[in-house]
Amino acid sequence: SATPATLSAISHGAKNGVLFKGGAAMEELSRMDILFSDKTGTLTHGDFEVVAYEADEATIQEVVYMEQFSSHPIAQAIISAFPDIELDQVNQAESVEEVSGKGLRKGQLLVGKPAAFDEYSDPRQIRSKRQPGYTSVFVGRDQEIIGYFNLADQVRTESKEAVQAFKNSGVELVLLTGDNHEVAQKVAEEVGIELFHADLSPEDKIKFVQESQAKDLSVGMIGDGINDAPALANAEIGIAMGSGSSIAMESSEVVIVQNDLNKLYDSYQLSHRLNRIIL
Ligand code: ADP
Ligand code: MG
Repeated sequence: SATPATLSAISHGAKNGVLFKGGAAMEELSRMDILFSDKTGTLTHGDFEVVAYEADEATIQEVVYMEQFSSHPIAQAIISAFPDIELDQVNQAESVEEVSGKGLRKGQLLVGKPAAFDEYSDPRQIRSKRQPGYTSVFVGRDQEIIGYFNLADQVRTESKEAVQAFKNSGVELVLLTGDNHEVAQKVAEEVGIELFHADLSPEDKIKFVQESQAKDLSVGMIGDGINDAPALANAEIGIAMGSGSSIAMESSEVVIVQNDLNKLYDSYQLSHRLNRIIL
């Protein structure tokens, strides 16, 4: 059970907007060697805006309808971009399924990242429409790409300072994202992270956590999405953003209520001071 010093640190963390699920989490944080970070919603606001698209009216109707079944930040952006759309042409009897970390499926319709279309016979269709620097969502039906949406997101102003603080303390930072290489690189540069891996599936994110654990490192993972939940659960210390999905919070030991990474750094410093008291 937690010592009085640990309990006092946990209560201090809570006042600072960082919730710890127990004393062990507070003590583990001080041992963190490497911190993997998700991009969307974690380093960025996850507040996307549709900046360009190409799709006919019926396709937009289908996509807006489908996105109502998703909790991904992209879904809200696409729904908000077409506030006046009528859904009268949509066959609502057909069910919508989430394709984990990739997008959505409804019958023959597929909406999501390029990797969601790996089963398509002609990948050139994607390449020809892809615009570097944006998060892209493609729409396909029966082996054919019938539309796309390009979306932009903003880096949280707090991210850069927090990244620098962790780096100065000797914690290695690595960006892990399901988004494309160009966007990952842009965000990594903006916040000052040298190492990044893009186009990842939720399983790939676990793989990076486990590789570091095999090297005897204590691994932190911070994220907000359903796609991050398995990696959050695997890390020694899973950290969820307060704005994240409930499954991300359930899979984590720590929750950053106000989404400010600097608050996590405050707790990290606190956990170090605490360890010195215990030892
Ligand atoms: P991150 O790891 O940065 O949080 P995700 O793994 O959640 O990103 O998403 C990766 C990509 O999958 C998105 O950039 C998008 O192209 C696609 N995607 C995921 N969910 C959806 C959705 N509901 N609608 C459309 N595209 C989606
Ligand atoms: Mg995310």
